[in-house]
Amino acid sequence: MNFEHFMPSEGASSRRLESWQRFQEAERAAKSFVGNWLWVEIIRVDVAGNAIWHDDGRIEVPSTNSDSLFHEVFHSVLHHAPFKRIAEQAACTFYCECLCNAFEYFMEAKLIPGGGSWMRRMESWERCGFQSIIEAKSGDRAWDFKYGLATHTFILASGFDIDRFRKIFLAMNA
Ligand SMILES: [Zn+2]
Repeated sequence: MNFEHFMPSEGASSRRLESWQRFQEAERAAKSFVGNWLWVEIIRVDVAGNAIWHDDGRIEVPSTNSDSLFHEVFHSVLHHAPFKRIAEQAACTFYCECLCNAFEYFMEAKLIPGGGSWMRRMESWERCGFQSIIEAKSGDRAWDFKYGLATHTFILASGFDIDRFRKIFLAMNA
């Protein structure tokens, strides 16, 4: 993708440039997760409404500095991945969302000074995600049980290491 198709509504703002650099690093990292299947080329990123990935390779994010961009980039890995078919057959496609969340966690840890929302949440749970949810006195426990716990499980299984996460992901798609 050329820079002209990346958040064009943001003009020459420094946040657009910063985001472009993060995007390029995230895209490079995401491509290293593609096995023997097709990557969906990302052709355009716009700042508009909610975070969403379209299967023609367009992405929308709510702001220039949205961490969701990392999550959405990973959908280009998953769209043709064997695991997505398995998840569909098993009616548990939310695991695909959790894999995107886990990738977002690793990108936040690498590219956002001080981390982002997923990084803070996952590191506050550290090695006791399940216990952390049980003991939570506030927040959205239903969301934590559905998305947080499975995302944490992938990160925990990876030992908080992106290279191990890639190995696990590729094994899931073998
Ligand atoms: Zn998603």
